[in-house]
Amino acid sequence: MTAQAQDLVGATRKESRRLFDSWWQEMTAAAGDGRPTAYVFVMGSFNELLRVFDFVINFPEITALQTAVRGQSMAYLQAAEDYGFSPDICGYVKVDVGLQLKGGEHPHGRVPRPALALATNMCNTYVKWAEFWEHHYGCPVFVLDLPAWRGAGAAPDPADPAFERDRRYVEGQLRELIALCERITGRPFDIDRLRESMAETNRMAAVYHEVLALNRHRPAPFNAAREGITYQGIANLYRGAPEGTQFFALARDELRERIRLGLGTVPDEKFRLLLAGTACYTHFKRFVELFESWGGVFVLSTYMIFAGGGFVPGFGYDLTRPLESLAEQMLQAAWWGFTGSMFYPQEWLANAVRDWGVDGICLHGVKSCRTTSTGLPDVREWLRTQRDVPGLFIQSDLVDARLWSDAQIKNRVDAFFEALAARKAGAGR
Ligand code: SF4
Repeated sequence: MTAQAQDLVGATRKESRRLFDSWWQEMTAAAGDGRPTAYVFVMGSFNELLRVFDFVINFPEITALQTAVRGQSMAYLQAAEDYGFSPDICGYVKVDVGLQLKGGEHPHGRVPRPALALATNMCNTYVKWAEFWEHHYGCPVFVLDLPAWRGAGAAPDPADPAFERDRRYVEGQLRELIALCERITGRPFDIDRLRESMAETNRMAAVYHEVLALNRHRPAPFNAAREGITYQGIANLYRGAPEGTQFFALARDELRERIRLGLGTVPDEKFRLLLAGTACYTHFKRFVELFESWGGVFVLSTYMIFAGGGFVPGFGYDLTRPLESLAEQMLQAAWWGFTGSMFYPQEWLANAVRDWGVDGICLHGVKSCRTTSTGLPDVREWLRTQRDVPGLFIQSDLVDARLWSDAQIKNRVDAFFEALAARKAGAGR
């Protein structure tokens, strides 16, 4: 390996650590100096707009996930349950509630209190979660109502007059949000800054798609469950910022280099897999290892789509009409990015099987998240009967270690690979 190649391989991991640290430093500083902080969600984050007002942006889904990866989510869950939250409630919510009850103290730093909480209606839990912050802090809550295009095959059509009515409805809400941000921060809205931020998102989205496409290569240069979660994190935290675009350009260059050198993410790739849903973050290393020990690689995941920015293929804001275009893209993403790949993933998965050369699908049901998990066994059945794609259904949780059953999950994963191996052998592959 040349010195230049050596520098590149591993560069993305180093840079991602730097970017996550820098976000935490900003949040921790804001907890001390009171700089206005907005709490947002990964499905419809308003980043481009919030950057115009210099908000610090907190993503509670990401902070919750990080506690699980660090093996510390249970103390927060317990605090929320002691406070009165049911064990059945979304684990991300309970970790965040525990975190707020502990004054924002997090293994990576300190979460500042919110000056504003923003939610879309993409998950019903978002709305109830934001109500907790409203009660706890008395902060204003703004809920953006995205008209439901909920149904398989119900993708919005910009040529449809109904779409234009919805677009105007969303734009009207965005204008209300701008007035609220002006009141909170005391800063006037600057449409040119919004344009700059949207232009940056355009660039970032294009490179994000390039990164995803590089995993069509055999062997796959990254694991969509492991590196994928980092990519999603950066795509959310740095959406609309030059650092985000630069990060994905670096990731793309590193992945190209890995391909040139023949370096797969596992030494001997035998099975190419799709992940429908998320991994289990309390047992993250183990989750990935159970598949990699069989030479199995997640080449793509639905999580990288619906929680990675919801970038519709060919995504691009029209900078000549920023607010109109922002409303338009939110509507498009609400169906394609957030709804299609999450609530009706069967066609999306079938296309990904074809385009990424996939052997089988793992559908991971999250016990405390009905939003992403409902219907997964039906999706598995549809793919098996309609597309002859084998699927494995397992269940645990995102952040609740009590719901991980190692022996049971390992048994199912092993049996799945044995069946995949027999199928490959039968097909002479
Ligand atoms: S999508 Fe699931 S994990 Fe995310 S907030 Fe909603 S219920 Fe919680």
